[in-house]
Amino acid sequence: MTTKIESILKAIKDDLIPLTKKGIEEGNHVFGGLVLDAKTFNTIVAGTNNRQMNPIFHGEIDTILRFFSIKDHPDPSTCIFIASHDPCSMCISAIAWSGFKEIWVLFDYEDVAKEFEMPVDLTMYKEIYGVEGAKDNNAFFKKYSIRHEAEKEPDAKILEEKIAEIKDIYSSLRVKDFSYPGM
Ligand SMILES: [Zn+2]
Repeated sequence: MTTKIESILKAIKDDLIPLTKKGIEEGNHVFGGLVLDAKTFNTIVAGTNNRQMNPIFHGEIDTILRFFSIKDHPDPSTCIFIASHDPCSMCISAIAWSGFKEIWVLFDYEDVAKEFEMPVDLTMYKEIYGVEGAKDNNAFFKKYSIRHEAEKEPDAKILEEKIAEIKDIYSSLRVKDFSYPGM
């Protein structure tokens, strides 16, 4: 049987990354999102950064826009939201406003700043709110790190390899220059 984390990683690889690759060719960033059914882990929708259209169309926002454009979409509370990278202050609020209660994140804020050369997210949290990031547990949602949760699983070694494989794909993606606010 496929475990929850295996299903999440498979969805990132099969349903999100191909979409992101296409977006990058159009000058967008690597950040993306997915909504999965919380019971079956089937992908309901995937979205990817669309900053060439509008600088606030981050991967999570694109995912939310696509989700609510589906006629008869499921109740967000019956779904899980996957973010390839720890959401910025705008996106984490948008996810909360949308009614998603469970969020899974592949790369955390530190990875984003260091390995994806995107320190703006953390700078905004610090400059605007005086915090280091969003709380994992709050009245709106629970946010999990895929990597940390994977370490607790019986098949941790296999999951670690799958995560490393996905990370290599992300590292190979070349993003075009873009000017960010406040930098
Ligand atoms: Zn964002």
